[in-house]
Amino acid sequence: MDALPATSTDPTDALSSVPAAGARRGLGVPGRLRFFYGPMDCGKSTLALQIDHNQARQGRCGLLLVRHDRSGTPTISSRMGIARGALEVHETIDIRALVRSHWAQGIRVDYLIVDEAQFLSPTQVDQLAELADDSQIDVYAFGLATDFRSCLFPGAARLFELADELNAIQVEVLCWCGLPGRFNSRIHDDQIVRDGDTVLVADTIPGDDVRYQVLCRKHYRTGDLGPTDVDPGQLRLA
Ligand SMILES: [Zn+2]
Repeated sequence: MDALPATSTDPTDALSSVPAAGARRGLGVPGRLRFFYGPMDCGKSTLALQIDHNQARQGRCGLLLVRHDRSGTPTISSRMGIARGALEVHETIDIRALVRSHWAQGIRVDYLIVDEAQFLSPTQVDQLAELADDSQIDVYAFGLATDFRSCLFPGAARLFELADELNAIQVEVLCWCGLPGRFNSRIHDDQIVRDGDTVLVADTIPGDDVRYQVLCRKHYRTGDLGPTDVDPGQLRLA
């Protein structure tokens, strides 16, 4: 049998060694980009406000950001009745510039809480990753993964691609049949709608009778909305 050649072609040989643990201290610890996702009504905003509370209690300073808040004013509001003022992140806002403007006023920003993050543009998600890497900011993003067509929101897709941590929120939302619901169906005239504007939010269109209901995959597929007298507070956005 031939001996192995002296120069191996193992491609991993080309990698340089990483800095020793002690040497990494000088590099600055990057922030982490975390995405917490789940269907409607699973308590994302409640968790967002709890994390903000815990961070602030330890003396850290955060900015609360939201896109298309359901209350119509820039607020992170949970269905359990807690609310805090937030900054609305419009489509054209550069989140890096927003943070820098706070620094320029002498306001510390240690972390960001971003609610309804599925509505961010992919570019804005890139900005969050840059803030984590280069400015040591911890980013906590909360949102839906998929839209009413069961397709990923572009902002959620980018978060899946870039986030350091992906956390499926463990509070189950039940379909009318009792199985866990993962699908945010859009309903108009008691029929499932399967195409249309991705970022339509029913609550922002007064007078329109579009509503949303969380369904299991089978009932999302078949369009079976179950008994008509579902408790409106349980499964529907009123
Ligand atoms: Zn079901």
